[in-house]
This record gives sequence, structure tokens and C-alpha cells, in this order.
Amino acid sequence: IPGLMQTTPLLVSGILRYAAAAHGGREIVSRLIDEPPWRYDYAGLAQRAAQAANALARLGVRPGDRVTSLAWNTHRHLELFYAVPGLGAVLHTANPRLSDEQIVFTINHAASGVLLFDRNFAELVARLAPRLTTVKTFVMLSDAARTHDAGVGAMSYEALIAGEAGTIDWPTLDENAGAFLCYTSGTTGDPKGVLYSHRAVVLHAMAGGLASAFGLTAFDVVMPCSSLYHATAWGLPFTAPICGSKLVLPADRMDGASLHELIQGEGVTFTGGVPTIWTMYLAHLEQIGQRPDSLKRVVIGGSAVPRAMAETFKTKYGVDVLQIWGMTETCPIGVVATPTPSLAALGEDALNEAIWTRQGRLQFGIELRVETEDGAEAPRDGETSGALKVRGPWVVRRYYRQEADAAQTDGWFDTGDIATLDAHGFMRITDRQKDVIKSGGEWISSIDLENIAAGCPGVKIAAVVGVPHPKWEERPLLVIEAHAGASIGKAEVLTYLAPRIVKWWTPDDVVFAAVPLTATGKIDKKVLREAWRGHLMG
Ligand code: ADP
Repeated sequence: IPGLMQTTPLLVSGILRYAAAAHGGREIVSRLIDEPPWRYDYAGLAQRAAQAANALARLGVRPGDRVTSLAWNTHRHLELFYAVPGLGAVLHTANPRLSDEQIVFTINHAASGVLLFDRNFAELVARLAPRLTTVKTFVMLSDAARTHDAGVGAMSYEALIAGEAGTIDWPTLDENAGAFLCYTSGTTGDPKGVLYSHRAVVLHAMAGGLASAFGLTAFDVVMPCSSLYHATAWGLPFTAPICGSKLVLPADRMDGASLHELIQGEGVTFTGGVPTIWTMYLAHLEQIGQRPDSLKRVVIGGSAVPRAMAETFKTKYGVDVLQIWGMTETCPIGVVATPTPSLAALGEDALNEAIWTRQGRLQFGIELRVETEDGAEAPRDGETSGALKVRGPWVVRRYYRQEADAAQTDGWFDTGDIATLDAHGFMRITDRQKDVIKSGGEWISSIDLENIAAGCPGVKIAAVVGVPHPKWEERPLLVIEAHAGASIGKAEVLTYLAPRIVKWWTPDDVVFAAVPLTATGKIDKKVLREAWRGHLMG
């Protein structure tokens, strides 16, 4: 028999309405590209998002239409996060770090009619514009005085919304309607579009707030340092208002000094981003001999968190690192590393070991399955690895404009990662399927090796790739980018590794070079493999 409760749809506009009503005076602070910082609150956000929505509707944006943003972490971008889906249209958050070809591909594939961009993308937009087949309207996310037409007839966002009403009756939409369109970086082939529904975004945001995940409260001050354009910055633009947390937006400046200034100045308690950002941040703290006074937790993911990074944050600064694993296809939260009583009972060392070396633990809403080569479910012994599959209400079913589902008929989606699960529900990624090193038929985990090498003094980034080897098929090559001024050589690195790894995992060579990163800040192993492919062939 049907339940007799209300069927209120879960909508992005509902989050905004709630935040304005319950936490209307809670602050939002935003740095801007080259304008003074902006300060307002959730009531102000609701008002300006309504103005933006009214303006977009006036420009002809209708439910189901796509609108593209090319923007950093600012309050104007945040306003678009609510205005566009609020209207029932879809916000495509383009990734400016992709190649020109890929950005053009994603905007044309999305068939967006409007492109809103930060002022420092003016040159990029002018360059791409002739190839954008569907964009009719260009809007610069800037005040009127600083706006120029960028050669594309751009208008000023501030001028555009200025005369609009600050209220709107947000339409009641189907909760399964599309809200955000995020493309994976497509290191192989064209980028693939993942179209988040309102329902997925809201459930994901609520799950993110749970104590098993980010555990945000109205006392927290949250600074997302993962890009708003990359899988909606882990949903923080939604979880923070649901929890009533103050929001601090750092624009495009993720260097150590800028972040430290914001952390100290705004009393940031919670922040998050990819490991490279925190490598820079920790180096900066070391250099200036200061500590982050208010900071309590840092969520780090996107690629594996070096153990040494988590340990430094905790032991030196008393900051808990929550590792997160996820992907664009999972909105992106999959697992988060937070303590459990069963681990705590094993003592502090065992607890730290799990928290510092595992990607995270099972979260309500996301099922995990590790599958061995014969298709059986791997035992949860923390040892047996296999293909990681996921399923749940915020996992992709089908990529945008594709004919076939990406998930199996029973819902399982193959992540392309290799992982183990243990009895405590903790998952550990050992590799991406395509990065696994196969040496003489045995697997070597490039992530484990990188993680250990990253702990060696003087190492800034450690990257391990399998390169062709005449005898063993493939052997690991360790590429190290050292900290500026560090005197470190192959011998030091090998001496450091020796007691920490099994002998046959020892890299066949250690080379020192700049490590290339992808558009989402991960080590670009494709480029490394290409560059070093002949290195061990003699
Ligand atoms: P893209 O593939 O476009 O760079 P995604 O953010 O979707 O962007 O990438 C998801 C992938 O990133 C995962 O499948 C996994 O391989 C990797 N990843 C994410 N978080 C972690 C983590 N904590 N540890 C190891 N790998 C991670």
C-alpha cells in the first residue's frame, strides 16, 4: 500500500530557501579576481540568485536549457549554482583547465545558449568563441565598470541583474530533472557528461553533512578549495548552507599564502581540496613558522593522500585529515575516512593507520562491491583486490547524450579503480586499472609506492609509472619533483624506500623532473608513460 506522506520534491532551490530562512544571517565571504572581497549572507545569496534567475529568464533561458559557467570559486559562481537549476535549467560547469578543444567540445556537446565567465577568462573565451556553435549570449562575471566586451559582445553580470526583483517563485520541478552537467576530464577519448539530477544533488549534500562524512555544524566556517567546476566542489556549496556553516570562497588563489590569510582572517574550521594544494600549504606553514589556529578538519581527495601529509597535519597542527574518494560519476562523494568505535578500540596507532592510509569508509547511500577477475565479490579482508563497483542514488546511470547505460542493469557502475575492502568497511584504492604496473605477471601498486616515496624528505611530488622492460614486461619508474632548494638524489630516495617496501617493488630507476598534472590536478601518468617509455629498454 502507498505511504501517506507528502512527496515534496528534493530540489536545489529548496536548499536555498531553507538556508535563507534558517541561517539567513550566516556569512558568505568571497575573494574576486581583481575586485575587493565581497561579503554577504545566505539571505543575500537568496536575493541575488533570484535576481540572476529573473535576468536569465529575461534572456530566454527556459527549463531544460543548458547554461555554461567558466568560473572560479566566487560568490557570483555560487549564485549561478542556485539561479540556473532553480529555474529548471542545467548549469554546465566547464573546466578551464581542459584543452581548448575539450572545452569547445563540452560546451557544444552541452549545447549551451549562454556562457558566463570570469574576467580573467576573457582571452580564452575570445579564442574559443568562433567555434562555439550554440552560445548566443556572453556574460562577464564582473562589475559593470570592469566589464569589457572581450570581442564577443559580453555584458556585465552586475549590470544584467541590477534591475531585477530579488524574489522569485522557484518553480516546482521534477526532482529527477537535470541540474548540473559535469564532464570528466577524458584523459582518453572525448570528455563524458554526467548530468546530476536535483534529487542526486540534494541527497548527496545531506549525506555530506553527516558526522560519518564531513560532519558540518552551524559553527563551522567552510572554505572549498576544490574547484566549483569540478564535480561541484564535493557538494560543499550545498552542504554548507544545509548545515548553516559560514562559507569562504577563495576565487582562483589556492597558493599557501592566500589560503593561510583566509584561514586566519575568516576563522576557517573546515577546508578541502586535492593533495597538491595541501603540499603547497604545508610547505608555506613550514616556511613562515605559523600554524592554522582555527582549522580543525581538512578533507583531501581526488588522488591518494600521502600518509606523511595526513600525519603532519595531525601531529604538527592538530588538524584531522579526512580522506575522501569519489569521482565525477558519483557527485562525487563515495567514501570518507572517519573514525569508528571498532577501530578506536584497537588503539590510537591502529586508528591513525586506517585513517591515514585508507580512502575512507562506507557511507549510507553508496554501496561498494569489489569484484575479482572471475566476477565474484572479493572477501572483505583488506587484502584481496579487484575492480571497484559502486551503486546508489547519486551514481551515474548513463552519460549525457549517449545511447547505452554506463551502469550495469543491476545498477553497479565500474569505477575503473582497483581496491580492497576490509572488515571495518574501509576501502583502499591500490590503483587505477590503467595505471597498475604488471611486473612478471605480478601487480605493483603505483599508489602505494608514490605514497611511501612522498614521505622522503625533500620530495614534493612522487609519481610512479610502469614502463616497458625487456625482461619483466613492465617495471616501476619513480619520477620525483623535489621541493625548491632540496638536495636529494637517487641514492637518498632508494635508501629511504629500502626498509619500507618489498624488494621486488624497488623502482628500476629514480629520475628527477617536473611532474605533469591533469586538468583536475592528478598526476598525468599518460604523459609520463609516453615520456619515459624507452627508459628501461636499454
Ligand atoms: P577525472 O577522472 O576527470 O580527473 P574524477 O574526479 O572523476 O576526475 O576522477 C576520479 C578518480 O580519481 C577516481 O576514479 C580515482 O581513480 C581517483 N581518486 C579520487 N579520489 C581518490 C583518492 N582519495 N585516492 C586515490 N584515488 C582517488
